[in-house]
Amino acid sequence: MTFEALGLNTSILKALTDAGYTKPTPVQEQAVPAAIAGKDLLVSSQTGSGKTAAFMLPSLHRLAAIEPAPAGKTPNQEMQAARSRGERPRFKPAQPKMLVLTPTRELALQVTTNTDKYSVNLRRIKAVSILGGMPYPKQMQLLAKNPEILVATPGRLIDHMESGKIDFSQLQILVLDEADRMLDMGFIDDIEKIVAATPDGRQTMLFSATLDGVVGNMARRITKEPQIIQIMTAANKHENITQRVHFVDDLSHKNRLLDHLLRDDTMDQAVVFTATKRDADTIADRLNIAGFSAAALHGDMHQGARNRTLESLRRGQVKVLVATDVAARGIDVPSITHVFNYDLPKFPEDYVHRIGRTGRAGRNGLAISLVNHAEGMNVKRIERFTKQMIPVNVVEGYEPKKTGSAPRSSRPGGWKPGDNRGGAKPGQRSFSKPGNGAPRRDGVSGSAEGYKGPGFKANNPYNSDRPRRSYGDR
Ligand code: AMP
Repeated sequence: MTFEALGLNTSILKALTDAGYTKPTPVQEQAVPAAIAGKDLLVSSQTGSGKTAAFMLPSLHRLAAIEPAPAGKTPNQEMQAARSRGERPRFKPAQPKMLVLTPTRELALQVTTNTDKYSVNLRRIKAVSILGGMPYPKQMQLLAKNPEILVATPGRLIDHMESGKIDFSQLQILVLDEADRMLDMGFIDDIEKIVAATPDGRQTMLFSATLDGVVGNMARRITKEPQIIQIMTAANKHENITQRVHFVDDLSHKNRLLDHLLRDDTMDQAVVFTATKRDADTIADRLNIAGFSAAALHGDMHQGARNRTLESLRRGQVKVLVATDVAARGIDVPSITHVFNYDLPKFPEDYVHRIGRTGRAGRNGLAISLVNHAEGMNVKRIERFTKQMIPVNVVEGYEPKKTGSAPRSSRPGGWKPGDNRGGAKPGQRSFSKPGNGAPRRDGVSGSAEGYKGPGFKANNPYNSDRPRRSYGDR
C-alpha cells in the first residue's frame, strides 16, 4: 500500500516524501480513506503507531479541498481597522474548522509539530496549540489569526470558549486524541461541554488505547455510525522492547541499582518514571550530583520550562529525563534507549505507554522496572494486562537480599536465573552483557555494596526506605 493509493492530494504526498515516510502504517491504511470519505472513526491503536498522521492527513486533505472564504478581514485585521477608525477594537472570535483535543500539553505540541510538517505545502492552513500554562496574550495573538486548526488541552480551551474568544459554529472535524487518558485525568465534563458547542454535522474521530468501558460509552454518544478500527489493543505490543523487573530491598538499593544501570554503555538517553513530582525533582537533582545530565519533567513546571527541557532532551543535552506520567505519552525521541520505572505506574495501561517512550521509529528499547518485594502483585497485574511475562533480572553485586519474596521465580514456568524470555529476539540488539536476560557480569561495579557514585551520601534521604506517597501528586 502506498500513500498515493490512500487518495491524499499531491501537496500532502510531497510533504510525506520530504518527511521520509515511504508507506502508511496499518492504522493509516485503514483510517485515512474512511476519514477522507467523511466517516466518523473510533480507533484503538497503540502508541507510536502513526495515529497522528492517521487523523491529520485526511483532515488536511479535506480542509484543503474547502473553497477559501471570500477575502474578508482576519480578526487581527479587523481589530487594526477598528483602531485606525479610533474605535475600541472588539475581539472577533476565532472560528476553527478543526479541533484536536489532547490530554497533555506535550502531546498537543507534538500534534501541532507534526501537523506543520504535513501541511508545509498547504499555505492557507495553519495549526496552533492552545494550552494551559501558556501566557494568555500570546494565545490571543494566535487566535486572532483565525487558524483553521486548533490543538488544545480541554481546560484552557474552555476558558477561551467562555470568554467568547472561540466560536465553534464553523467546526467540521473534531478529534479526541488519547481519549481514555483524558477521561482518566477527569476531563469528562470539559469534553462534554466542548462537544456540545460544536455543530451536530461535524466529523468526529476518537483515538484511544481502549474502546471499552467509560470511553466506549462516550465514544458512542458523540459519534454517528462510526467505523471501528482496532489495530492492536493496549495489551499486545512493544515486541521490540525488552522488558525486565529488578527486585530491590529498599530505596537505597533502588538508587544504587538505578545509578548502576544508567551507566550501561548501551544507553543513549533514558526516561525514569516516578510516582510523584517531588520524587522527579529529587531524583533528577541526585542524578545530576552523581554526574548524569538529568532533568525533571512534571505538571508543576511552567510550560516554558517544560518545553525547554523537552528541547534539551531532543537535542541530546539531557541524557536522563526524570518524569511523572505527564510525560508518559507524547514524547517521541528516537534516541531514548532505556525506560526505568522507578515507581510502578498506578494503571497497567500507563506501563504500556511509559515503556513506549523507547523503541521508537523501529528501534529496539529496554524497559526496566525497579520493584519492591511487596509490589510483586502489581507486576502480575501488568503481566496480565500485557499478556507478557516480564523476566526478573539480577545484577551481580546488586542482588536483593530477600530472594525468597519473589514468588514469580518459583512458580511453574516462572523465571529462572539465565532465562532469556523477554530478551531481544534473534538479530536484535542485546542490552546486557553477556547474553540477554542474564545477570550482568561486566564487573563495572561488582562489589557487594555496589556502586557509590560521587553523589552517594550516607545521609541522603534516598538511601533509606520511606513510605510510598500517594499517586495523586502527579
Ligand atoms: P504517533 O503514533 O502519531 O505518535 O507517531 C509515531 C512516530 O511515527 C512519529 O515520529 C511519526 O512522525 C512517525 N510516523 C508516523 N507515520 C509514519 C509513516 N507512515 N512512516 C514513517 N514514520 C511515521
